[in-house]
Amino acid sequence: MKAIITGAGIGGMCAAIALEKMGIETVVFEAVKEMKPVGAAISVWPNGVKCLNALGLKAQLRALSGNMAYMAYQDFASGATLTRFSMEPLVRQVGEYPSPVARAELQAMLIESYGRERVSFGKRVTQVTQHGNGVTATFDDGTLAHGDLLVAADGTHSVIRHSVLGETVERRYAGYVNWNGLVEIDASLAPDDQWTTFVGEGKRVSLMPVSGNRFYFFFDVPLPKGLAEDRSTLKADLRRYFQGWAQPVQRLIEAIDPATTNRVEIHDIEPFSRFVNGRIALLGDAAHSTTPDIGQGGCAAMEDALVLASSLAAHSLGIEDALLRYEARRVSRTRDLVLKARKRCDITHGKDPQATAVWYQELRQETGERVLAGMCETIEGGPLG
Ligand code: FAD
Repeated sequence: MKAIITGAGIGGMCAAIALEKMGIETVVFEAVKEMKPVGAAISVWPNGVKCLNALGLKAQLRALSGNMAYMAYQDFASGATLTRFSMEPLVRQVGEYPSPVARAELQAMLIESYGRERVSFGKRVTQVTQHGNGVTATFDDGTLAHGDLLVAADGTHSVIRHSVLGETVERRYAGYVNWNGLVEIDASLAPDDQWTTFVGEGKRVSLMPVSGNRFYFFFDVPLPKGLAEDRSTLKADLRRYFQGWAQPVQRLIEAIDPATTNRVEIHDIEPFSRFVNGRIALLGDAAHSTTPDIGQGGCAAMEDALVLASSLAAHSLGIEDALLRYEARRVSRTRDLVLKARKRCDITHGKDPQATAVWYQELRQETGERVLAGMCETIEGGPLG
């Protein structure tokens, strides 16, 4: 059995590694010549870590991960701690550590593990057709590739999604802009073993340790879509949006490098229930695009990969049947994640200012139990428990 995989992002590479582990031949086609991930880092939560462990990447992932031993929320203006608690109860309950990692390093780890020379870069799929008992992908250079099935891991702007759904779905603007990047760890910004988040005014500023003495930072600001902001105005924009915020936030703005800071208008897609058409399967953001508010988009792509590989390996009624079983195991899980992230997004970013004010109050009473229980529920809903 030969699978064509389009897209060498987190989803495509995890799928390629997982399928090969099950003895399925794969070929990977990636549109760009050089990978340039849109986010600087990513928190791989234990459900994702378990998937990477199952792919044989436990030691490599551990080496890239920051130590997120604690979690804290700070008041935006005074900088005072609203709540701070250990992540240890979560680790004990779910049996794995959360792993914040630089995204480029995660991506490189996946590609190297599969074999960089085996990924065909600069090959953009434009069309997919099914015929008899196979699939043909057409590329923008006019070449073709044939396989028994095709895994469309071509991201949130997927061109293959239409061949599965028979319609075009629109991305939905979530109402906020996110700036993210990496900065050297500095104790005057936040402790080096803690995920620290300043909250207020429906905005947030977050610092999460990754390996190599770096913080992954991000700023969220509710804003209209399509503002003409760019790197040249980045620091001035952030100074304006975070005027009156605590000293560590001001220091962070001065410390960041606009040349390596990403600006992203955050979107998701209304969940849909069809991931498969015949021998074509959507995977990762192509199948379910979420806001990053619970840090689960990439983890869900890892879960998809494992479930896809096990569905193909474990069933004897043919490829179409196995893909439908993959779909059945993933649709409701990923719908839940997208909707949970959307709810969190709205509360964090002041969609209903009253609800956001209640959340700020709740944080002052938070002992960690409620927050960690919510995270454990999300994590344990994954295919590896
Ligand atoms: P992508 O990473 O988008 O990869 C798709 C690949 O397909 C790309 O390399 C692209 O070039 C290629 N491609 C596109 N079109 C074609 C084509 N026609 N032919 C061939 N190749 C094509 N998730 C988490 O789990 N934790 C987090 O903390 C987290 N934080 C995030 C923060 C931000 C700001 C954002 C925006 C997202 C975050 N996510 C997080 C979500 C995560 O980044 C995505 O869910 C994940 O990258 C999806 O992987 P993917 O492989 O499906 O898609």
